[in-house]
Amino acid sequence: MSTSVPIKKNEFYEVTFEGLTHEGMGVANVDGFVIFVPGALPDEQGKIKVTKVNKGYGFGKLIELKKLSKFRIEPECTIYNQCGGCQLQHMSYEGQLEFKYKHVVDVIKRIGKINDVTIQTIIGAKNEWRYRNKAQVPVGEIEGGLVAGFYKKGSHDIINMDLCLIQQENNDAVVRIVKKVLSDEGIQPYNELTHKGLIRHIMSRYGVVTKEIMVVLVTTSKDLPSKKKIIAEIVSQIPNVKSIVLSINHKKTNVVLGDETVVLWGERYIHDCIGDIKFAISANSFFQVNPEQTKVLYDKALEYAHLTGSETVIDAYCGIGTISLFLAQRAKKVYGVEIVPQAIDDANRNTELNNITNVEFKVGKAEEIIPNWYSRGIKADVMVVDPPRKGCDSALLETILEMKPNRVVYVSCNPGTLARDLQILEDGGYKTIEIQPVDMFPHTAHVECCSLLVRKD
Ligand code: SAH
Repeated sequence: MSTSVPIKKNEFYEVTFEGLTHEGMGVANVDGFVIFVPGALPDEQGKIKVTKVNKGYGFGKLIELKKLSKFRIEPECTIYNQCGGCQLQHMSYEGQLEFKYKHVVDVIKRIGKINDVTIQTIIGAKNEWRYRNKAQVPVGEIEGGLVAGFYKKGSHDIINMDLCLIQQENNDAVVRIVKKVLSDEGIQPYNELTHKGLIRHIMSRYGVVTKEIMVVLVTTSKDLPSKKKIIAEIVSQIPNVKSIVLSINHKKTNVVLGDETVVLWGERYIHDCIGDIKFAISANSFFQVNPEQTKVLYDKALEYAHLTGSETVIDAYCGIGTISLFLAQRAKKVYGVEIVPQAIDDANRNTELNNITNVEFKVGKAEEIIPNWYSRGIKADVMVVDPPRKGCDSALLETILEMKPNRVVYVSCNPGTLARDLQILEDGGYKTIEIQPVDMFPHTAHVECCSLLVRKD
């Protein structure tokens, strides 16, 4: 079989790039054999060196570009090539939007074979820079000094960073200040290899609407030396700080936050708003990282749900209830289900915070809870799903087909699984009317979609 592989490691090839992967790698092929090449863009041509040959595909390194994409630009960020946090900074924002839009069309129409659907032009972000409301930076040691920044691409070596162009400026400032304060107080950075040291991560959360700031120090122990001094410095240097907490994580793990949170100063929560809904956000809470664009996406979901006040809505995969609370304002009743218990705690807290009385949340698997509700006579007029990347569980899709809600609003972060699930719903009696792609994460390869399906009968 291996005789059919037309490329060899360390050999050079002239290629034309046709696509871009989810990780932002250029895609070329040699005699039909696919090769992924970091840094290359669609429509470019050049010389590559093959670095790795796997069973059905290979990897290559860009040696020389002979034809450039009209979208190619110099990345704004000086550490773009080392970091890996962004994948598309070498493409203009216009080019990024075109790439994301074409990707959605390609996956839905060509691969998913859902042809009779309107795919609206992608809604780009108003602010393509400085949009993230949460920074989470690993702390380490270089030549005896405390540094914090990012892991060098493909490794766990920490590179110092003072500026991240997709972060809210406040988050950059917090990290810079806290880094200096900890360093001045001689706090020991954590070392992954020896499992020694105290401070693992600095995290900063910023309420874009409320301007409230939370500082989280992720440490291996509750005992923070010079605690008073550190708190006093942070409070005096960061005027909007509302909360300083320790998150205790003494495990050998890549998971950033620990299970235990100790409030050092101020509140346990900060707040932020999406539209008219206010959210309490703790160190461990999930909260959308680009709330401005989240509002754009959820406004679309609200429009597609077409609520008049008499509907029952089920929000499967409801997380902290962002969509549920958004829709509750216009529905008779909203039921939300989510697998993570802490997210449901947050959802309940946020329900109270907004004096909303027509929602009910349940912890569990959507594919188990929703059939159970259905057997007890709870039937949705509108079903909203916002699943993780792997898409909806097939048992949930079956339940939707049995329950026959008039409308299904499908919010997706992965066009591939969206296309798969839309096909199943179409085969079961639904028609996909419209898909609205939204760019929530400029300079990364992610794209979100909000889709509307209605019953054919
Ligand atoms: N709209 C939500 C985010 C949804 S992200 C918000 O804004 O908060 C997808 C969510 O699905 C995650 O919270 C994840 O924990 C949850 N999840 C994953 N598998 C699930 C399952 N089988 N049943 C219910 N929820 C699930």
